Amino acid sequence: MTKVRALVLERQHELALRDIDLPLDVGPGMVKIAIHTVGVCGSDVHYYTHGKIGPFVVTAPMVLGHEAAGTVTEIGAGVTNLKVGDRVCMEPGIPDPNSRASRLGMYNVDPAVRFWATLPIHGVLTPEVVHPANYTFKLPDNVSFAEGAMVEPFAVGMQAATKARITPGDTAVVLGAGPIGTMVAIAALAGGCARVIVADLAQPKLDIAARYQGVIPVNIREKNIVEEVARLTEGWGADVVFECSGSPHARKTIMDLPRPGGAIVVVGLPVDPVAVDIAGASTKELRIENVFRYAHQYDRAIALFASGKVDLKPLISETFAFEDLDRCV
Ligand code: ZN
Repeated sequence: MTKVRALVLERQHELALRDIDLPLDVGPGMVKIAIHTVGVCGSDVHYYTHGKIGPFVVTAPMVLGHEAAGTVTEIGAGVTNLKVGDRVCMEPGIPDPNSRASRLGMYNVDPAVRFWATLPIHGVLTPEVVHPANYTFKLPDNVSFAEGAMVEPFAVGMQAATKARITPGDTAVVLGAGPIGTMVAIAALAGGCARVIVADLAQPKLDIAARYQGVIPVNIREKNIVEEVARLTEGWGADVVFECSGSPHARKTIMDLPRPGGAIVVVGLPVDPVAVDIAGASTKELRIENVFRYAHQYDRAIALFASGKVDLKPLISETFAFEDLDRCV
């Protein structure tokens, strides 16, 4: 253990920039990375404001942050895919490679996964981190550190678009225009959707999503989303509906949105259990998919950034220096 400075969530509503013991020994297969940029995730904000997110509760001081990019400063024995000086981003969830879920390729749902800023694992709002080389990805020269940090949330969008099994020309609906909903919409467009109808009640969020060609914003304060989807699809319905709001309200009419034989992809986590209209799903033979984080998405997300087909820079709202972090809330 090494004493290092980090942004620590002491408990709900209390942040401190202070020294804390973190593991920084570079073992075999590991690399040390000087952190350059860390994105602030909705989950970091939830931990600060509510002290928990879903089943994950902050019961001890925890370093926040899991969306990170930086530069390799040291490599451990046996590492061949990276060298000192490489610019990289890191996948924050490390599964047990020998677990049954990992061997099936679904390492994101490995019950033993250790994920940054999810107790007992600390996050990376700190100058250095040691990480497995296998979960560290080289950034092409034309992909910035800020974009590198955004690979993490975008990987959720990639996982959702992959699970949706999009066919070129599909019409999708995204419920919820927060950062994840917007990234799902962008990934769905990159995956071949002709248009994505994005629904929210916050106009500023819709305005950001609407900067992307192919996004049709719908403010649900002004318009009924079921009627609007029916109007835009001549009464047929959307091929894919992504639920990214986590809102119980959004789920009341969700089965009215897809076309017969369409799909619903659940991305948002509701705080409490919600009622679901199973009969509505049965009578259309809807396919329902679930998304928890991502697996095997980082390399393809980076390839989309490098190609210029996906530009997430419009989503960067503010930047803070590390030394100012405890004062930025
Ligand atoms: Zn995140």
